[in-house]
Amino acid sequence: VKKIAVLTSGGDAPGMNAAIRSVVRTCAYHNIEVVGVYRGYQGMIEGDFEPMNARSVRDIINRGGTILKSARSKDFRTPEGRKVAYEKLKAAGVDSLVVIGGDGSFTGALLFNKEFGFPVMGIPGTIDNDIYGTDFTLGYDTALNTVIEAIDKIRDTASSHNRLFFIEVMGRDAGHIALNSGVGAGAEEILIPEENIGLKKLLESLEKSRSTGKTSSLVVVAEGDKIGKNVFELKEYVEQHHPDYDVRVSVLGHMQRGGAPSCFDRVLASRMGVKAVESLLEGKSNYMVGIRNNKMELTPLEKAIKGSSKIDMELLRVAEIMAT
Ligand code: ATP
Repeated sequence: VKKIAVLTSGGDAPGMNAAIRSVVRTCAYHNIEVVGVYRGYQGMIEGDFEPMNARSVRDIINRGGTILKSARSKDFRTPEGRKVAYEKLKAAGVDSLVVIGGDGSFTGALLFNKEFGFPVMGIPGTIDNDIYGTDFTLGYDTALNTVIEAIDKIRDTASSHNRLFFIEVMGRDAGHIALNSGVGAGAEEILIPEENIGLKKLLESLEKSRSTGKTSSLVVVAEGDKIGKNVFELKEYVEQHHPDYDVRVSVLGHMQRGGAPSCFDRVLASRMGVKAVESLLEGKSNYMVGIRNNKMELTPLEKAIKGSSKIDMELLRVAEIMAT
């Protein structure tokens, strides 16, 4: 390994910059050349590379987003596009690739390796925490902190007006953000895709919490929840059955993906970058770096893509008990 390329791909997540910094500094530490690829796979196809050194990544550990920019590349989904990308990397003298992204990005990386035997290493960067092989993905902890800060503020207005709030949070098909932020922010009910409680039980639960003396309620809803109604339809549904409820809706949206990474995400990114580069140096390829039980571990990319991250059933129970 003489020259490593690093790129960010798919949705951005806080901590990606800290991971870029770590990859670049680990290369510098081991006297290996490193180039940054702008705009993910699209930049790879276009040869949009920039040589980087330890100083090019100064002042970014604290910044959200990604200085290398991210993109979704249609061209990279075609064999022709990947061939151009391979030629561009070869021409630049690059012999290994670190991809910071989600499972779509890993699928592309794996194909790229299969076709050209190019060594690749993945770092999981997504706020959704929906990747198999790691307890935490980069950006997840930061997103959770952003969400509970927002919900705390909504709680203030909810309790001042005896209101019921449906708060939609991100997470795509996974309920990690909803479940953990729901517990952390003290939600009455948490709706996640992994467990469809049904509309009837939702109403019962709201009535129960009213009958126990609660005057305001927060319901955290995962965007991928399978109850069959979005937050606005949930509001209508509840109002139809309980015209006396004062129901409001808040969709937190993209603010969840932004902001300075938490200390946890910065440390995790630093550890993952070191592990990714040093694993390539040991001759390993086609793995995703992850953290399990506070240890850095490698999972074959194939498994990381196919496997699914499981929701913590014990935490579901904790949520239920806390809503008593
Ligand atoms: P996020 O979870 O944040 O969406 P992601 O990595 O899953 O991140 P995608 O948009 O699915 O995001 O993938 C990013 C890029 O990876 C795509 O734009 C495409 O260039 C490449 N990619 C995804 N799937 C494939 C595939 N099956 N074959 C080749 N390339 C792919």
